[in-house]
Amino acid sequence: MSDAMTGANGDVFRDALTKLERASAHRPVDPEVLLRLEHPKAMLHVSVPVRMDDGSLRVFEGYRVRHDDTRGPAKGGIRYHPQVNLSEVKALALWMTLKCAVAGIPFGGAKGGISVDPKTLSRLELERLSRGFIGHLGNFIGPETDIPAPDVYTNAMVMGWMMDEYSRLNGRRTPAVITGKPIHLGGSLGRDDATGRGAYYVIKELEQRHHWDPFATRVAVQGFGNAGQHVAALLHQDGYKVVAVSDSQGGIYREEGFDIPSLIHTKNESRKLRAVYCEGTVCEMVPAETVTNEELLELDVDVLIPAALEGQITEKNADRVQASTVVEVANGPTTSDGDAVLADRGITVVPDILANAGGVTVSYFEWVQNRGGLSWTLEEVQNRLSEIMSRETLAILELGEELGSDLRTAAYALALGRLGAAVEAQGTKGYFNDDGD
Ligand code: NAD
Repeated sequence: MSDAMTGANGDVFRDALTKLERASAHRPVDPEVLLRLEHPKAMLHVSVPVRMDDGSLRVFEGYRVRHDDTRGPAKGGIRYHPQVNLSEVKALALWMTLKCAVAGIPFGGAKGGISVDPKTLSRLELERLSRGFIGHLGNFIGPETDIPAPDVYTNAMVMGWMMDEYSRLNGRRTPAVITGKPIHLGGSLGRDDATGRGAYYVIKELEQRHHWDPFATRVAVQGFGNAGQHVAALLHQDGYKVVAVSDSQGGIYREEGFDIPSLIHTKNESRKLRAVYCEGTVCEMVPAETVTNEELLELDVDVLIPAALEGQITEKNADRVQASTVVEVANGPTTSDGDAVLADRGITVVPDILANAGGVTVSYFEWVQNRGGLSWTLEEVQNRLSEIMSRETLAILELGEELGSDLRTAAYALALGRLGAAVEAQGTKGYFNDDGD
């Protein structure tokens, strides 16, 4: 990962802590809370050997970081990407701790990843790598300690292999060890679109508060994967004009907006992003301009949704962002320096730990169902998700007004308050210095 992508000093974890320290100035907490959050609870670095289809051996570096489990078992996805490294995984794990606190669900934070380009592996190689990684994690993960889920370039099938491997190694079927599984292997209805849907519920709250007209609201989405596709589709359904989308190869722009279901259809069929209109299964190309991922961020839109990777909006391009609202569906798309520029310019940033909390919230529902032998309807899942997302969005909007702060600071303050209460419930210096007289 380049320095430009990770903030001034090139360390994503350090950059994440900077945002936390900024927020703690607004919401004083016991210094022990920050001290704990600066030090992930446990970190594992493994080398996973995989026999490739051509008979050769390759060794992949994998990581799992359990950041904090004060509020409950640690929870967080597993990413497959060539840029995965320990600092990134630590930052992602810290954000999970804060996100679970923001959502008010009884989980701490974790994250994992393998440094690999999964697009270069065959399906069998991918399965061997996924099972091999779980073999190396051993009891570092478990339904009561640390529960993985999908992230960039991992999906339900990968989660199914991982759950199966963990169950095989432990001699008992353990669906609750991993969330985001296929429905038929114990997954939850509504998990597939939960991240995008959660972001959509947050946007609906902003729409109400600021009286937005969806039909006059232009949206650009960077990253057209699981999270990006679903938020785009839900907004499109409500009349929002999604005028630009992109994937790792670049983006497309169309003044009139795209028919999002058609784009999703061709992207998932052909793995390519094309401007199309589909009638049933017949798809026709429609004219569109191409834009780079960098240009997409600077388009004249109302709502910008980064939904790909971290470090996209930095001090180098933040002054060219034209959107009045940035909704961080990706984790950490804005560096702390970029954030300061956006704040100075009065651009509203809905922080990742709120905007993409829908994924972990429905993962929590999946875990609850697995442990209770339950199976909720889609309606039950979506109603519960909507209730949590709306409740916490309103709480953060109100806290922002109370503190006179931006929404990231308010979200971090909310998380710090909840984490602080949990840390203090175990006693801090103040308690232990008091001899009870
Ligand atoms: P995904 O693998 O389904 O999709 C990622 C998309 O980003 C793909 O379309 C890919 O082509 C594109 N992409 C990759 N590199 C890019 C680049 N440099 N520029 C633009 N696009 C690029 O992943 P996802 O699950 O949708 O995750 C996307 C983001 O959302 C990540 O930051 C992830 O941590 C975050 N997130 C995901 C979930 C979840 O439940 N899936 C939950 C919370 C947060």
